[in-house]
This record gives sequence, C-alpha cells and structure tokens, in this order.
Amino acid sequence: MSALSPSQATPNDGTRRRGLIRAWLDSTSDPGEGNGDRVDWPRILPFVAIHFGALTALWVGVSWAAAALCVAAYAIRMFGITAFYHRYFAHRAFRTSRLVQFLGALLGNAAGQRGPLWWAAHHRKHHKHADTPLDLHSTEQHGFLWCHAGWWTTKRAFRTDLAQIRDLAKFPELRWLDRFDWIAPVAFAALMFGVGATLGAVWPSLGIDGWQGLVWGFFVSTVLLYHATFTINSLCHKFGSRRYATKDRSRNNAWLAVLTLGEGWHNNHHHYPVAARQGFFWWEFDPTYYGLFLLAKLGVVSELRPVPERVLDDAPGPRRAA
Ligand SMILES: [Zn+2]
Ligand SMILES: [Zn+2]
Repeated sequence: MSALSPSQATPNDGTRRRGLIRAWLDSTSDPGEGNGDRVDWPRILPFVAIHFGALTALWVGVSWAAAALCVAAYAIRMFGITAFYHRYFAHRAFRTSRLVQFLGALLGNAAGQRGPLWWAAHHRKHHKHADTPLDLHSTEQHGFLWCHAGWWTTKRAFRTDLAQIRDLAKFPELRWLDRFDWIAPVAFAALMFGVGATLGAVWPSLGIDGWQGLVWGFFVSTVLLYHATFTINSLCHKFGSRRYATKDRSRNNAWLAVLTLGEGWHNNHHHYPVAARQGFFWWEFDPTYYGLFLLAKLGVVSELRPVPERVLDDAPGPRRAA
C-alpha cells in the first residue's frame, strides 16, 4: 500500500474543528495524551472564556444582592468540591447513599473543575506521588504559575486515569457526569441568571437582574473557586507550618483554610488523608467538617472517619483543649 496522502495524514480545518467541539462536549472523545506538557489552548478556551466572563462585571455593575449571590454560589460549590470531590470521592472519608453520592458529584461538577472521576483520579495520584516528578503540580519540580494553574491547562492533565478510580467508575451515572462534564456548570450558570432575573422582578429595589446574577453568581464566583482550589496545590505546598514530617512539602495554612472551607490544613491532610476532618484540633477552622457533621446528624451521610488518637498524640506543639 502507498503512504497516506497529505489530506489523510493531517486532518483539515473542518475535521479539526469538529474534533475540538466534540472534545469540549464529550470528555471521552479526546482523553488527552500521556506526555503532553504544553498548554492545550483550544481545549481550555471555555476556562479562559469564564475569566473574560468575570470581567464583564465592569459592564453589568454590582449590587448587594449580586455580591451575596456570588458568595453563596462560591460557598455551596466549594462545599461540593471539598466535601464530595475531595473527602468523599478521592478519599472515601464517609459513606452515603447512591442518590446523595450523585447529588454531591453534581454540586462539585457545577464548579467547572471537570468530572468527579477525573478529579478523584488526579488527586489520588497527587497523594501517591506528592512533590515528585510523577506529581503533575509538584512544587519540587516547577515554578509557582505551573503548580497553580499551568498543569491544569495541559493535554496530559485532561486524561482520567481509570486505574486510580475503579471503585467509582462502576457507577454509570458518575461516568456519565464525567463524560459530559460541561452540563452541570452550564445548568448552574442558567440557574444564576434565573435567580437574578426573578429577584429583580419580585424586588426591584435590590437592583439585581438576570445579567448580574449570571456574571456574579457564575462567572466571578467560578473564577474565585478555581483559584482558591488551586492555591492548595501551589501556596499550600509552599507557605505555612509543618506539624508532621511528611515526605512531601505540604503545609498548614489558616488563611487558605478560610478561603477553602477547611482545606488549608493540608499538612494534617497529607499525614492522615482519609479523615473526614482536616482541622485536627478544635481551633483549626474546618467548615467543611462542620457541614458534614450536620449532614451526619440529619442522616444524609454516615460513618465520618475520625482522626485516630495516635495521630493526634503524635502532633507536636499545643495539644487539644481540655
Ligand atoms: Zn497536596
Ligand atoms: Zn487529598
């Protein structure tokens, strides 16, 4: 057989465009390459567009209602990331029903940080290889920008390593969410527009409308969510204190714990990752754990995994309050 003709060897513009749109809409159609460390600009256009969307706040203006919507949309979706994507899917730190498992995945997915299987697989690898060459955002190997957001934009980072998440991949509804990981964020954006428009219509004195709802409730709060989450990979492996001598560079950082609803106690977490709480002592602010504690009291989740006494006793410095 003769060699491929040029038109067969390199896809034309139409094919490339269709392939790109398919990759945006169906994450399994272009699962990423094993060693693509360059920024995949076409693939991350939606991520870039969300940042430009946040800038339109300059045009739509702000109101107290829009600012409150932004904070609420941030807090509830951060809880989706910290309680479900992180503590439940990546670490199995508590148990829940299949329905709540799906709703938690949906809430985390609404933050626009890809699907639950992708997130958990990537994060489990982070714990196995933290700050080594096998860790995509190792602070040992890379500069700040790469550890913060650069790694997330690469072809390699799009791959979901199914070998890491066999326990989760058996649920078809989770595979579906992971495959169509744009549906939840788009639905959340539409919801924010609807909330803004409804509030503006019912109480015109609030000064909010659908566009302010969309821009502050979705674009601005989603950008804040991205960068607050990313700080745990970048700043929290660089700045803060180290209670435990873990093999990685993880730190405890109170400021980042406030921003991320308790994820800033990252050195605690690397030392004992499967606990439902990351603030190991009462003075370590961990609102994700308070939320999970409340959900456990209500019977929505159960079997919150505690921090063992031996781990608490190993902690140098001030002990628990009497
Ligand atoms: Zn880490
Ligand atoms: Zn973790």
